[in-house]
Formats: sequence, C-alpha cells, structure tokens
Amino acid sequence: MGHRATLQFLGAYAGVTGSKTLITTGGRKYLVDCGLFQGPAEVRQLNREPFPIEPVTIDAVFLTHAHLDHVGYLPCLYRQGFRGPIYCTEGTLALAEIILMDSAYLEEETADFAKKSGYSHHQNPEPLFTIRDAEAVLKLFRPKPREEWLAISPKLSLRFVRSGHIIGSSFVQLMFDQEQKSQVITFSGDLGHHRSAILKGPEIIRQTDVLVMESTYGDRLHPQQDVLQVLGQALSRAIARQGVVVIPAFAVGRSQELVYLIGQLERSGVIPSVPVFLDSPMSQKALAVFFAREEDQTVRSSFRGDPDSFFPQKFEVIESSDHSMMATMMDGPSIVISASGMLSGGRVLHHLKRRLPDERNMVIFTGYQAEGTKGRFLQDNSGTLKTLRIHHQETEIAAEVLTVEHLSSHADYQEILEWLGAIENKPTQILLNHGNPVAQKALALSIHEKFGWSATAASERQSWEFF
Ligand SMILES: [Zn+2]
Repeated sequence: MGHRATLQFLGAYAGVTGSKTLITTGGRKYLVDCGLFQGPAEVRQLNREPFPIEPVTIDAVFLTHAHLDHVGYLPCLYRQGFRGPIYCTEGTLALAEIILMDSAYLEEETADFAKKSGYSHHQNPEPLFTIRDAEAVLKLFRPKPREEWLAISPKLSLRFVRSGHIIGSSFVQLMFDQEQKSQVITFSGDLGHHRSAILKGPEIIRQTDVLVMESTYGDRLHPQQDVLQVLGQALSRAIARQGVVVIPAFAVGRSQELVYLIGQLERSGVIPSVPVFLDSPMSQKALAVFFAREEDQTVRSSFRGDPDSFFPQKFEVIESSDHSMMATMMDGPSIVISASGMLSGGRVLHHLKRRLPDERNMVIFTGYQAEGTKGRFLQDNSGTLKTLRIHHQETEIAAEVLTVEHLSSHADYQEILEWLGAIENKPTQILLNHGNPVAQKALALSIHEKFGWSATAASERQSWEFF
C-alpha cells in the first residue's frame, strides 16, 4: 500500500513571505522551506505566534533557496525543539550561513537597543532568535548535489533541480512510491528566468503529478527593453548632474548582477568611471559565494577567471558601519548599492536620509517591493510624495525615484507559462502560493486559458490530500 500525502500551507498563502509548506505522509512530517514573515509589523508578528505543529515532530526540512523568507524561521524551529536534517544544495547552505548569521546578529542588536532605550514597551524586545540558535541550526544542514534522487524514507525520495533564481536555488521534487506507479510533487520555490547576465536560468520539468507554483509576478510582465540601455540612461542622467544613485538591494540576490552591469556600462563607455560602493556587512562573503559556485554561472558572461572584467574600476566593498557612515557624507557622483532591498531597515536608510532631499540624486528600485513595506510606499507614490518617514523623522523627497524591473530575480507570468509548457502530462493539481491574491487569480486564469489546467490559490492552513 502506498501512502497518501497531505499538504498544508503554513505561510506564503496570500502573500510573498513566510514560505512554509507542511507535507504529512505515512505518519511522518516534512517542511518545504521555513521562511520568515517579513514586511509591516502585523505581518512580522506572525513569526511570534505559536507554531501550528510541534516542531519536534517534524522529521526533516527541504529548502528551495536561501532567501530569508524561505529559511529565516529555521533558528526559531530549532529553538522550539526541531533537530531533524535540513536538506538543500551546497549553494543554499553557503548563502544560508551568511543570511542566518546576519539576521541573528540584527535580531540581537535590535532587542538590545530596544531594551537599553526603553522605547519599545508594546513590542516584545526579546530577539526572535539568537546567534547561538542560528549557529546550532546550521549544523543540521545536509547539502546534496542537484539532479540525484535521495531516499528520505522507504517510500519517499527527494531531488533538487536548478530553478535559476539565486545561487543554489532549486525546485524541490518529492517522489512518493505508490502501489501502481510513483507520484511526484514539485515545488517551484522562486522561479528564475533566462535573462540574467550572470546566472543560469531554470531547468525544465517534464513530468509532475502535483505542482506548487509561486506567483509573485502572476499578473505582471517585465519590460522588454535591454536592461543595459535602461540602466545606462538612468545612471548617465544622475552622473551628469553630479548625483548620487542609491540602489536598495539585498546583498544576496541581484547585487552581484548590478555590479557586473555597471562594470559593463563603464567598459563600453556608456557611463564614466565613478565610485561604486557595495555597502553591506555581508557583501564580501556573498561575492565569494557567487564566484565559488560556478555551476550556477552563465557561460554567456565573460568574467571567468578575470575579476577585473567583472567589477567597475572604482569598485569598493563596505563592511564596517563607520565606513558606511563616511560614504553617506561623500560628494557625488557615485553609485551605492545597499540593503535592505525593500527599505525595511539596514544601512540603505542612512543613505536615503542623506540623499533623498537633493534633486540631483536618484533612487533605483530593482526588486519586488512587498506590500506594506517602505520601499513599496515610496515606489507607488513617487512623484506625489513629499516626505518619507525614516528613523522617526520626515525626510524630504527631492531625488528622482524610479524602478528598473528588468533585474527582478523572478519569472514574470509569460515566463512562468513558458516554463509550465515543458510539462508533458496534465498535473492532477496545481496550487499557487507566494503571491498576493490578485496575482494568484490572474495566473490561475492564464494557466487555464493556455493549457486548460485548473490551478487553485493556496489558502491559509487548508489541507489538500493526494494520491
Ligand atoms: Zn527568493
């Protein structure tokens, strides 16, 4: 007798954060991803609610990739008794080390500050997790190569397949050995695309019985123009007026691509050589991981073995916060890439506080801005907004604010449909997660129109049974 499988979304059901999907089969429990809820305070509060099942009863965790909204809850899971193995790729482990340690450090620092200043009486000043929790949970990671089926239990195997979103990112495929034939559930995690100058795109999947598909850009298309041209025009304009360009971006993700593209623009003479700062305490480590993971780099890029052909001439990595503060005081023209990407905290806020009031300067958004974040607010209201609240102070907005969506590390809905088009069988069930309800609905409609397949939006804690 084969086992049935039950699937339940514990996060990323009607939004893009907190990815956690519970699979129960043959009396065992598995989690696919274990992410933090991010964004406004009421969403972040979900991280402090009791976990819906006893973490100690979870047998293993499978990770699609190392972004915080997919791995950030792991130290909390450890804190509550989870001790099982965490399966992922080598690249995901390398990035998760950087991301979880940085996040734990920030948690402790923020809690310390809240306690000392006493400014937080309604919020819980305890850190969500500590450096010790992060270190301990990292010891449970079991990195595995892609493409190979790995036996998890007598009736369940696991496989990772490249998804082209960030270094190490992969689809998670689970194969359930059934009486008649085996059945496969595929989790897309975050789906990448084939437009990156430095990262390989996603592999195709030919067979899957059930598909859990992300829908971040389920209702949107990325622009068609060449990213170098769009970025080149924007940067030239700001540099010509001696401006400072602030690009909010997470150190792990598309920062490396931005650095590479700026270098390309310089080498081809589109923009003059100006100081380019990558300002994040973990950017040096993230760069090292990027250069070490050749399996994810595209053959199209020409930088192999020659870092000089990758970086802009006046490129500098900023690690210390003192150096970062100095950079906020320097005259333009210059380019600063700094986290957090959605302005939810971090050094980028210091740069914006200083640069927003000057009309020569420019802010370029390059990634998805989740609803309720400061980034989304500034992006949606650019042109009409007069001030932005930063560190409890209204900051005047005179700088030019624009979005270059070409650099998103997610596939748009056309690219999602193309990827789905390689599946040769008709999946018995398609569940859409990791998108807002509007995007989920739009993608379900497009999938039905194109393939005649029905797709269902994930909903909170509802259960689906298979096989
Ligand atoms: Zn991601």
